[in-house]
Amino acid sequence: RTRERSIRSLMRERLPQDRLEILEEAGRLAESMSYQIYAVGGFVRDILLRRENLDVDLVVEGDGIAFARALARKLGGRVRAHKKFRTAVIVYTPPGEGENGKPLEEQKVDVATARLEYYEYPAALPTVELSSIKMDLFRRDFTVNALAVQLNPNDFGRLVDFFGAQRDIKERVIRVLHSLSFVEDPTRILRAIRFEQRFHFRIGKQTTRLIKNAIQLKLIDRLSGARLFNELKLMLREKDFLLDLLRMEEFDVLKAIYPAFAITQREETLLREIEKVLNWYALLYEPTAPRQWLLGLMGLTERFSDEDARGVATRLAMPPKDRREFLYLRKQCMAVLEQLNTWKYEDGSRSGLYFILEPLALEGILFIMARTRDEDLRKHISLHLTKLTHEELEITGEDLIAMGLEPGPHFSQILRAVLAAKLDGHAPTLLAELGYAERLVRQMRRGEAGALRNK
Ligand code: ATP
Repeated sequence: RTRERSIRSLMRERLPQDRLEILEEAGRLAESMSYQIYAVGGFVRDILLRRENLDVDLVVEGDGIAFARALARKLGGRVRAHKKFRTAVIVYTPPGEGENGKPLEEQKVDVATARLEYYEYPAALPTVELSSIKMDLFRRDFTVNALAVQLNPNDFGRLVDFFGAQRDIKERVIRVLHSLSFVEDPTRILRAIRFEQRFHFRIGKQTTRLIKNAIQLKLIDRLSGARLFNELKLMLREKDFLLDLLRMEEFDVLKAIYPAFAITQREETLLREIEKVLNWYALLYEPTAPRQWLLGLMGLTERFSDEDARGVATRLAMPPKDRREFLYLRKQCMAVLEQLNTWKYEDGSRSGLYFILEPLALEGILFIMARTRDEDLRKHISLHLTKLTHEELEITGEDLIAMGLEPGPHFSQILRAVLAAKLDGHAPTLLAELGYAERLVRQMRRGEAGALRNK
């Protein structure tokens, strides 16, 4: 009975017009090629949950790559095909323009092929065509992610629910499709926790047991660092990632990833502060978003020895650039925190703090903010981020040349000194900057003259 539910009107109500049109277009096109076509996975789940999700995943019973090429032609997009997996990604720019007359952002549609031969089933199964979507869905992680909605014109909006996904969404529970699911792919342990926390669901009883079993069997050890890192990054990108981490701790998953991982009161407090700082920063609408995974990892490894920090980077097979940045940022932050231990506000502190924080990546500055308990210091770091990093001098090297100075390394010294004066409020105007620079140039000339006399 539930299998025949149509969510056509819900889709009309929930989806932006252009998305809906693309789905309809895909349905018509597939029909003309005699293929059955479905939207699947998180996209369907989020329609039922009434959450926004613009990542469309399509599954075609037929030649997925040929279909993707044909759809891309209609949308005026390009196709990246992966022959081996019979999947393709369509990238296209929707027609029309954004608020400021710029072209709209590129969009992606993933297309996969559902074919029974993938799954090594006996060749003589009767309903090959009909069951391939079922097989595709059966490979998925959780019932709530194993929903499909048909797009062919006559069945547009027909919900395909073989595994009780609608019931589980209603009961708000995360359930695997079969008891070997975590053996097949242990990253699903992290995924279960991530979806549970994001949707405020509960991992089902049997699924909980299977997770505990998988942990006991040390299945996490079998995971490649790259897959683990990828899944951990997705987790740390969640809005309330601390809840995910606490749940991981409860299941002993953290230890299983790296033995020194633990969330004690100390980590919990720090990670909570990190979340607060991230929320605060998000409200500033700055163009660069901080890498949440980096901050999360800094929080998780705050009390680690250098050796353990390197150990984590190795276990997660972090790409060289990420590894270098993570290890270097830790060192930098320790040093800066040490330096700031005795910090107190006085004349010259603004520029002083500016030059201390300047070498740090954004994530480092946010980490320092989360780590410090000194409210005054925190305010000044926030001033640094919101205002001082955007300060620029009005004078340039040209002005120094006009003062008769030969270009050289002392140029940047002088300009930095003028910037310090400006940050501390001693050179608020262009004229004041020039006056300050002139004084420095005169001092320098005297110094140079002295140096010449000594020769
Ligand atoms: P998100 O909202 O985080 O993007 P999503 O459900 O769209 O969630 P993706 O990681 O984009 O998640 O995966 C898309 C779909 O692919 C999932 O809905 C699920 O059906 C399937 N899937 C992804 N990873 C796995 C996995 N490890 N095992 C089984 N199925 C998976």
